[in-house]
Amino acid sequence: MPQNISHRDGNCLAGPLSEILSVEPTAAWWRCPGCGGSGPLARLHVYGPEPGLTARCPGCDHVALRMVHEEGHIWLTLGGEVGAFRFQAP
Ligand SMILES: [Zn+2]
Repeated sequence: MPQNISHRDGNCLAGPLSEILSVEPTAAWWRCPGCGGSGPLARLHVYGPEPGLTARCPGCDHVALRMVHEEGHIWLTLGGEVGAFRFQAP
């Protein structure tokens, strides 16, 4: 990680994330890094519900997102296997 690039803490993401997390989810558009396909959320192939919901690209099966409920929390992974975000369940 470059040491000479300034950064802010993650609190600065609260505003931008609240904008996208409060909109109608079916209006979301995805783009696949695996095959380059894209489309509305409804075109994804969703598997689950256990151990969680996994949405895959209909063109190449690349994971678009994973969503797992766990004792009062929701884990959300966008775009594959790297990292996840945990949200407080409503
Ligand atoms: Zn794909």
